[in-house]
Order: sequence, then structure tokens, then C-alpha cells
Amino acid sequence: MSLPVRDDLQGKQPYGAPQLPEAIQLNVNENPYPPSPALVAALAQAVALAAPTLHRYPDREAVALREALAAYLTVRTGLPLEVEQVWAANGSNEVLQQVLQAFGGPGRTALGFEPSYSMHPLLASGTGTGWVAERRAEDFTLDVERAVAAVERHRPDVVFLTRPNNPTGTGMDLEVVDAVCRATDGMVLVDEAYAEFSPAPSAIWLLPDHPRLMVSRTMSKAFAMAGTRLGYLAASAEVVDALRLVRLPYHLSALTQVAARTALAHTGELLGTVEAVVRQRDRMIAGIRQLGLTVVPTQANFLLFGPFENPPATWQALLDEGVLVRDVSGGPGLTGWLRVNAGTESETSAFLAALATVVP
Ligand SMILES: *Cc1c(COP(=O)(O)O)cnc(C)c1O
Repeated sequence: MSLPVRDDLQGKQPYGAPQLPEAIQLNVNENPYPPSPALVAALAQAVALAAPTLHRYPDREAVALREALAAYLTVRTGLPLEVEQVWAANGSNEVLQQVLQAFGGPGRTALGFEPSYSMHPLLASGTGTGWVAERRAEDFTLDVERAVAAVERHRPDVVFLTRPNNPTGTGMDLEVVDAVCRATDGMVLVDEAYAEFSPAPSAIWLLPDHPRLMVSRTMSKAFAMAGTRLGYLAASAEVVDALRLVRLPYHLSALTQVAARTALAHTGELLGTVEAVVRQRDRMIAGIRQLGLTVVPTQANFLLFGPFENPPATWQALLDEGVLVRDVSGGPGLTGWLRVNAGTESETSAFLAALATVVP
């Protein structure tokens, strides 16, 4: 049977990495530490308090949650942010989709620097936004000249900058963000999904200078709340008003809002795992290099390692040893590479042991 699916979607595959709970899962860059018993109890209590009002729609503007996010960003960055400057949705993927619905769309283009997060072009496609791909340097860095030249060549409506970059872990100087903002008349989206793992200052610092700059964040990675589906964005109040034009009414469920607020009230505990994750990442780097392989310098909780002659075969061999990593080798400029994220100490040990048996 053939359905009248949109021409541009025909023959496409849905995005998604394998979900294999029986394996050691190091393939989607999650924080490996589950919520503590105290946080579990607090979440259960918060849900119980919200439950008697579930016959009502939730706060459409998610004000209490956005206030908590603004307070969190203010503490983290030292730059005072107001609730009007913060937006939230179901994962930063939904935030990015809303950005493209509001500022992209048919007849408009978005520019990205690949290899990078493969959802950016997919979200462009889903919103009818043209996608223009430029390349990063051979070592996956992006400097001011390359970035500005691409912006001047293509004059995009939206520019995507990912720092640290996924899947390479590469950092990016704030000067690049600043230069791109100066070079374009369009919007600039800085995807900082892994910011809490990086020593670099946030692009949020540039918001006062650039009214068309947007910085997206997520609770899925360092914040160890991937199951909650909560992403957010900091920008000017005008940008937030524009996103409100395209969001679905009541897009954030009451349960999502209370869960995210409860998690934010436990920020110290949740981000307290970041150091341990970074330690395991550094152990991974040392162990992989000891096997004679290359690791791309990373500022995130994951890393690219290789090169492999046949990455899908190595991916399968690791899975046969019970360890699930990400085969990114089909992506632009990624021939030969696999990606893995840091796990707990024992998961990281299991990965290193599996790799040692797989690598000749
Ligand atoms: C994981 C990731 C996201 C989004 O995750 P959500 O769970 O939707 O918040 C966004 N950008 C990058 C670069 C990522 O790696």
C-alpha cells in the first residue's frame, strides 16, 4: 500500500538509535546516574500533589518552570535572565522545531556546519526549511573565517552552531558565535545541549549584544533527566513571543512541568554527577589511546574514536560483548568513526574491556 505521504518524506527512515535495555547503553549521551531515592520520593510527591488537578489543562505559559529555569541560568552564567527571556518545550528538539517553524519554513533556509547533530537537517526538512550544509575543518573545529564566509555566501535565515559539537565533542570559541551574529541578518541558534560538561563560557553571555541570538539547552544530558523530555532556550523576550505563535496550546503537560521543577530544585545533586562523568570520560580517552586508537578532543560527555576500517562490524562486535555504542560513520566527514559516551565506573570498565577484545 502506498500512502500519499509528502514527496519530500517518501523513502525516508525515522530518526533513532537502537534501544536495547539489556546492553550497556553508551549510545545516546545520557547521564548514567539514575535519580537518588530522595529525588525519586520528591518526584512522586510532586506528581501526587499535581494529580488532583489533572482534569484541568496545565499552565499554558509554564511560568513557574520558566522562572526556575531563568534562575538556574542566572546562577550558572552570572548573567541575570528574566522569565520572559526563557522558553521551554518537550526536549530541546521541540524547541528547535519551534525555532524553525517561527523563523524558517518554506522559501527560507537554515545553515549548519557538518558533521554535527543530525536532527538539525531533519527538523529543517520537517518544517519545509531549506538546509544548507557547510563543512567544519578536517579536525572538526570551526573558526571565525570559515563560519563568516559561509554565512556571507548563503545568507541563511537561521544559522545553527553546536557547542560542544555532537557527535565530535569539539568546542567552539565565543568569538565564532559573536562573528556569525554580526555577519547575518538572520537568526542564530547556538545548541548548547552539553554546556554543563564544558569549561567554556556560555553563549548566553552574548545575548545582551545580539537580539537575534538564541541559546538552547536541555535537561536530557548533564541534568540526568532524559525521560522527562524538557528542553529550553534563552533569548530576547521578542524571540520568546515569536515562539509562542507556533507552539501548540498546553504543549508542556502538568506532569512534565512539576517533574522538571522538582529536578531543578535538586540541581546540586543532579549536576553533582558531572565531575564523575567527566572522570570516566577521561578514563575512556586514556584507555582507548592505549589500544593505539585515536580520540577526537572533546568537551562533552562523549567522544569520537577510531579510525576503523569497518565501523559497523566493530559496532556489532562491541554489541556482541554487551556494549552499545553509536555508529556515526555514515555521517558527513565521519567515515571510520564510532561514538561512545561515558558511563558509570563499571560501565566504562566494561566498555574498555570489550574494546580491548575487539581491537586486534
Ligand atoms: C541530545 C541533543 C539535543 C536534544 O535533546 P533533547 O532530549 O530533545 O533535549 C539537542 N542538541 C544536541 C546537539 C544533542 O546532542
